[in-house]
Amino acid sequence: MSPRPPVSFPDGKQFAFTIFDDTDVATLEYIRPIYELLDQLGFRTTKSVWPLPYPGQSEYYHGSDTLADPEYAGYVAHLQERGFEIAFHGARMESSERAEIIAAFEVYKQHLGQYPAAYAAHGYNRDNLYWGVDRFRFRVWRWLYGAVLGGRGEQPAEGHRVGSPFYWADLAEQHLRYVRSFTYNDLNLWNVVPTVPYRTAGTPGVRAFFPSSFADNVEEFIELLSPTRQEQLERERGLAIVGTHFGKGFLRDGRVHPGVVEVLTRLSQRPGWFRPLSTLLDYIVDAQGVVLLKGYRLFRLEALWFWHSVRRRRHHTYDQTQAPYLQRANKQRAAR
Ligand SMILES: [Zn+2]
Repeated sequence: MSPRPPVSFPDGKQFAFTIFDDTDVATLEYIRPIYELLDQLGFRTTKSVWPLPYPGQSEYYHGSDTLADPEYAGYVAHLQERGFEIAFHGARMESSERAEIIAAFEVYKQHLGQYPAAYAAHGYNRDNLYWGVDRFRFRVWRWLYGAVLGGRGEQPAEGHRVGSPFYWADLAEQHLRYVRSFTYNDLNLWNVVPTVPYRTAGTPGVRAFFPSSFADNVEEFIELLSPTRQEQLERERGLAIVGTHFGKGFLRDGRVHPGVVEVLTRLSQRPGWFRPLSTLLDYIVDAQGVVLLKGYRLFRLEALWFWHSVRRRRHHTYDQTQAPYLQRANKQRAAR
């Protein structure tokens, strides 16, 4: 018997499901068929954008559209009109200083009519908020991260450090309701922590954090949404927020990967509540507020991230999954 879910959903819906699509290597032609499929199946999810282009060298440059591309920006606005949420993946594909971040929020607003409500950090950008070692509140995990995972010569993320050129936590507090924290391999996030979203002490600028499941690319996405896992999500009456990159392998020969069509079609036939991230979280906040997470529960949340990362690394490595998609995107551009 599963534990009672902390919140029940409206209209007799048995569980909630949404997607937060990180915009890495997403071009208009690549993502459009995926969003058309989601729309047809009745999913309203969250797509992130980079408002600003990047003028220098970036491995994301050739395969990622930004709001500087008029056709792409038009399609993004059109998605918003159809009920999708457009979120912030940082100002652009590489690190940005404060003035650029301010400009990025304004560009977003010009295109979409208001500021974004949700944000997820990108890669190793210096302006990421509470990222790298600063994701952790417990010293033992900071130490472990530095010793085991952080020894990769990462430069510190400083979006939350007052006085840094990359500082913007005050703007985050003004504009954003939800900031992504840790990612996991479980579909039902309530198995990781019963209070989603949550806040923590000592993280000014963030009104509320949300954890998410993560499927880096299409193979991981199909695996995460297997029929068994869908069945479990429904049985547990759970909450699923799936972070992914629709730019990474979701199309095959110009069509949505058949495995994706299959898992999403099956899921759409289940009695789930399929709204964008901020709609789901606003609903939960109305019911239980934004709970301050501390002590054992916070310790466990941080510990589980290590556990899930280790399991994940054994299974796939990020670089192996990243490279082919970047090459694909580069080839596509070169062929035009
Ligand atoms: Zn990213």
